[in-house]
Amino acid sequence: MASRRSGVALVSHPAMREAAAHDTTLEDGAEHQESAERVRAVWDALRGAPSAAAEPERGARVAAAVADFVVDVPDLTPRESAAWLERAKLVHSASYLGALSRACSELRDGAVSPLTPRFLGKGRGGATRVSRRSFETALQACAVVGAAVELVATARVEDRAHVAPRHALCAVRPPGHHAGVSGPNAEVGGCGFCLVNAVAVAAAAHAAELHRASAAACAREPPRVAIVDVDVHHGNGTEECLRERFGQGGGGTFLYASVHLLETFEDPNLDFFPGTGHDAEDAARAGARKRPAPGGAGGRRDPDAVTVVNCPLTPLWVRRPKRGARRGRAGFRAAVSDRVLPALRGFAPDLVLVSLGVDGALGDVGNTNEAGDPGLDLQPEDFRFVGSELARLGAPVVAALEGGYGRFDEGRGFDRSSVVGCVAAFVEGLQQSGSAGVGSAAAARGAADARDGES
Ligand SMILES: [Zn+2]
Repeated sequence: MASRRSGVALVSHPAMREAAAHDTTLEDGAEHQESAERVRAVWDALRGAPSAAAEPERGARVAAAVADFVVDVPDLTPRESAAWLERAKLVHSASYLGALSRACSELRDGAVSPLTPRFLGKGRGGATRVSRRSFETALQACAVVGAAVELVATARVEDRAHVAPRHALCAVRPPGHHAGVSGPNAEVGGCGFCLVNAVAVAAAAHAAELHRASAAACAREPPRVAIVDVDVHHGNGTEECLRERFGQGGGGTFLYASVHLLETFEDPNLDFFPGTGHDAEDAARAGARKRPAPGGAGGRRDPDAVTVVNCPLTPLWVRRPKRGARRGRAGFRAAVSDRVLPALRGFAPDLVLVSLGVDGALGDVGNTNEAGDPGLDLQPEDFRFVGSELARLGAPVVAALEGGYGRFDEGRGFDRSSVVGCVAAFVEGLQQSGSAGVGSAAAARGAADARDGES
């Protein structure tokens, strides 16, 4: 029987688009760069609201692609909430989750409090902020990503009237990829607007489920879950969670690949946030590492550890880049083509989760320095390219929004159209890849067939 999966699901929850659910408003009443408005703009555009589409033709194509599978997941019941808290403990410490939950519940309605002092970027930033419902909203975001994984990777096609989505986009916030085992990384001094690492939580929960299933079936192949992070900032939290929780004896279950800007100084306060994510291969070639990354080597799969592929890009504002340094759109695409995709093909994932930050877009405050110079100049086409290439691997792809803020104009506030355009283009890439998954590494292992009984 041919595959009954097609299309891309759009998965969210009303709290993801509601300002009061995770209020980040600045002290002067101005909108924080990481606000519900970003997710609402994406949601509206992907649902075909004509006013939201920066590129109407692409908007219409993408809206048609997701139209069959628009899912607002239900509110978590107390029991489900407790279950997601347990899953969050697969990657975060119980003490961090407890402290974050208390910090939020002790706030009065309408109050907004800084969680960490460190500013991210030099735009209309502000510390990582929390309000009364932030923790429950962060857990709800985990549940959205979990529901998307279930839709594309776990649920049997027959259960869903013989049709199910092939891939999914999760319109979620708060972002999560800077949240490490204990939340804010002490060395980095910030949490980059992140609270609970929804992508890492969903990856760990899904891997645990696959482990149980393969043990029951006496399968010899361990499950493999890849996380691809295209946010302009290194996902230091995700890398830390995977290394610390699954680095030893993890059975080679996880691969983390990231393409990000990196610029570091003697004074870490001057680093481009978070100042981590050096390329282990580059460092090995140079004979020394400026800031050693613990264990792991890019690209080569260690059968018993977490594979990490860090692909740093040099910001465009650096006047004298090192010879061979990757930068700009061409550098981004080269990193994806030459490093990320080969590593993924070798790894043959059962599931690809994407930390879909679109703050590498030209003009986004997330990659702009104090002088207004861009560090990266990505266009929607670059995100379409990534979506298309990832979908061609053959495994289901579940992308969750991370950073991506748009332009800021002192008089008019935020223009979120680049966020919408880049996310829509990524979804278009997923959709346009069609059924190119046939013959992929994962399919060759028979994993897909065993999982959803489509063949
Ligand atoms: Zn970012």
